[in-house]
Amino acid sequence: MALRKSACPTKPMPDTTYDVVVAGAGPAGLAAACRAAQSGARTVIVDDNPRPGGQIWRASHKPPAAAERWIRLAEAHHVELISGARIFASPADRRLALETLDGEFEIEYRSLILATGARERFLPFPGWTLPNVMGAGGLQALAKGGLPVEGRKVIVAGSGPLLLAVAHYMRSHGADLCLVAEQAGGASLWRFARGLISKPGKLLQGAWLSASLLGVPYYASTWPVRAEGHGKLESVTLTTQGREWTEPCDYLACGFGLIPNTELAVLLGCRLGETGVSVDQNQQTSVAGVFAAGEITGIGGLDLSLVEGEIAGFAAAGHPEKSRALDARRDAEWRFSAALEEAFALRPELHDLPADNTFVCRCEDVTLGRVRACTSWREAKLQTRCGMGPCQGRICGGAVEFLLGWKAESVRPPVLPARISSLAADATAGSPAPPAVPSA
Ligand SMILES: Cc1cc2nc3c(=O)[nH]c(=O)nc-3n(C[C@H](O)[C@H](O)[C@H](O)COP(=O)(O)OP(=O)(O)OC[C@H]3O[C@@H](n4cnc5c(N)ncnc54)[C@H](O)[C@@H]3O)c2cc1C
Repeated sequence: MALRKSACPTKPMPDTTYDVVVAGAGPAGLAAACRAAQSGARTVIVDDNPRPGGQIWRASHKPPAAAERWIRLAEAHHVELISGARIFASPADRRLALETLDGEFEIEYRSLILATGARERFLPFPGWTLPNVMGAGGLQALAKGGLPVEGRKVIVAGSGPLLLAVAHYMRSHGADLCLVAEQAGGASLWRFARGLISKPGKLLQGAWLSASLLGVPYYASTWPVRAEGHGKLESVTLTTQGREWTEPCDYLACGFGLIPNTELAVLLGCRLGETGVSVDQNQQTSVAGVFAAGEITGIGGLDLSLVEGEIAGFAAAGHPEKSRALDARRDAEWRFSAALEEAFALRPELHDLPADNTFVCRCEDVTLGRVRACTSWREAKLQTRCGMGPCQGRICGGAVEFLLGWKAESVRPPVLPARISSLAADATAGSPAPPAVPSA
């Protein structure tokens, strides 16, 4: 893929206007960029990682074959890639501010496709801030980046199909996988598995993953209640059917499902729906010229991300009619996404996971008791600094939403951490005031 030099000046250059800018180089972003470029649009993808692929195709050595196919197609259609660049603000209409290691610069778009993906939901419990307690995908990402897991005792816990993928990865890289703990109940999982009969590809994938974990205990209706250790994790206490037991381990990989990364969309004024950013049949958001695809619109897995990306790419390039043949595939994937949501819904008992003295906001050391004493997310931010640290509520926001039912009321730039010099350059360019979170 043509790699654009990231050492750009602060002010936009004449060649920084694109027909289509794609935010995010995961499966949705790659598919979107390919279809937009194929339809004749000058297209660029911006992503904060060093290589394209997003979460699932985050390569340790060589991207998987499916990723290679999309990357080769993007190259063939002259898609440009700005990697290692964070989009942190929108200083003016149809303009984005980017930060790279070399500095801040801006690009302009006629159409924008938001494909910023999702992140894990963390739920706090006593000991969750101990070193070596990590997100499930987080430990996998570190292992893909070189963290040795061979011979280490690993417990995978939380909720969702990602647990199986992570468990498989850990085992195939030599980890001593102790067990997988899924909070969803056995009946719910069984119904979900039966529903996969109409999706042979996914059924096969599930069966293959399960077979690769033969011999590893998989407990439904089970979740961690406590992590303990001196200076770092040494053991995890789990609960199932009212019984508790403790397992020694080196790593706890724990995530309770995924939540869409909607911050940039909200900053641009896009309306949110029940599952993520609201889109119409063409993946068009409530803001003219802004499209959204992939897990930012709702959690549905790789195939949904790809098909939404393709539809958004055609539409953003001005050819929505080319994507009508894909509508049925997307609708089927949406049904799968709804089944996922139902099967892995978080159980009410998880509200009792944190004690009053458990940190909810680990950036600012704010306990649940202090947050609970407030009446809204806004008040909690003002009174306790919950959500005001470097992660800007990315971690505690999802937990507070589940535990107390509060949603963030506004998003302010920078949507990702940025250097003071980048913020200063952006302020000189005159960022507009942030909008309140629009809802459906
Ligand atoms: C941690 C994690 C691990 C996962 N591992 C697996 C797995 O092993 N197997 C599996 O089947 N599914 C996995 N999933 C689910 C998988 O990511 C989705 O099913 C699907 O791939 C999502 O594709 P996407 O293109 O919507 O988003 P993503 O693949 O998440 O891509 C979004 C990209 O946008 C970038 N981005 C976001 N905001 C900005 C910004 N402001 N500026 C610049 N770049 C930005 C992100 O860094 C990312 O590269 C994982 C999800 C997560 C969160």
